[in-house]
Order: sequence, then structure tokens, then C-alpha cells
Amino acid sequence: MDAKAREELLSLIGHLRSYVLYQKGLGLEALPRSRPFAQTLGAVIEELGECHRCRLSRKRKNIVFGQGNEKANLVFVGEAPGYEEDIQGMPFVGKAGQLLTRMIAAIGMTREEVYITNVVKCHPPQNRAPLPDEIDCCYPFLAKQLRIIQPMLICALGNAAAQTLLDTEAGITTVRGTFHSWEGTKVMPTFHPAYLLRNPERKRQAWEDMQAIQRELAKGA
Ligand code: URA
Repeated sequence: MDAKAREELLSLIGHLRSYVLYQKGLGLEALPRSRPFAQTLGAVIEELGECHRCRLSRKRKNIVFGQGNEKANLVFVGEAPGYEEDIQGMPFVGKAGQLLTRMIAAIGMTREEVYITNVVKCHPPQNRAPLPDEIDCCYPFLAKQLRIIQPMLICALGNAAAQTLLDTEAGITTVRGTFHSWEGTKVMPTFHPAYLLRNPERKRQAWEDMQAIQRELAKGA
């Protein structure tokens, strides 16, 4: 190691030492050994608090954060809580939710095994699609959920989830059926169950997407 590199290394160690001593002064007793930036979902819920970051907070009854296994291999991301979800505070508990439960069962899994959430956590009035600034407010919380859970696979349900996670304006019909990536995690976009209820002829394609998910999960099992 040359003299300059050695000097830089020593300076770095000095900075690191000051930082650790500073943290110790604040009461830190040990450094986390893995997932250095990870919190728990509980900590994210706490950070979200009684959220008033966007206008959706005005009319919501409950924040619908998400439900399921914090260590899930598979996470489903929908658009936004509907009327029923707003009342119950749980994602996908209405008619579309019943179809999602069947889609999950069709690949041999249960709702308890997976994790289910939405791009925005509050019900938009009249079930309208969430607006871009509402998505921007909520996205950091979705990102934190996904970084904590670290699933093997994400299934994006419908346009809002696919466009947000893939950072694209392309529609679901274009992006569905193949794997994409969100921060290095595989994403399969497919039709939203509410859309499938209105367009049952699309169920065959959704089933193909679910089978692709099942095959991909089996590879990692
Ligand atoms: N539609 C969604 O996108 N999410 C829900 O939680 C319910 C319906």
C-alpha cells in the first residue's frame, strides 16, 4: 500500500471511530450486524404515524399499511385501499381481495405466507386512481416495506403498481408476463384482480403470470 492510500485509510478509520464514539454517546450499545439500514415494519408504521402528508388523509377512515408475513418470499402490491379496505384497515378484503386470495391459493400459497400492500395506503375518494403527488408521498414507505421484507419476488397488480415500481409509463398489458426488476428484486406485473373481475377473458394471461411466479419461487426454494 502506498503512502497516500495508507493516509486515506487512516483518515477513514479516524472518521469511523469518531462516528462510533458519537453514536455511543447517544446511547448506541451495539452495531447491527446485518441489514444495516433495515428497520422493522413496526418502525415504519411508527414513522408513518397519523399520516397527513397528502390530501388522501382527509377522508380516510384507516391507514391500510399492509398485511402478512414480514419475511415473505412473495409480496403483492396493489393500487390503493378500496371502500371496504378503508373500513377494515386491511388490504384486499373486498371482492377484488377474494379473487386475489384465490390467485394466491392457485399457486399453493396462503395470504398468511405472503405479504400484501398497496402503492398508497389511504383510500382515494370515489375509488379514483391515486394522483402522482399522492404516490410520491407514499412511495418511500412502500420502498421501506420492500427493503425490510426483502422478498424473492414482487407481484405488481395493475397499472399503478407496475408503473410505480418499474418507473415507467407503459401500461400493464405491455409489461405483464415478463420479469422486471425493482432494486434488484424480480417483479412480475399482472392484471389487477378488480380489472379481472370486469374483464374475465384476461384471467388466462393472469394465470400464466401466476404460474411464472410459482416456477420462479420454486427455483429459489
Ligand atoms: N384494490 C387495491 O388495489 N388494493 C386493495 O387493497 C383493495 C382493492
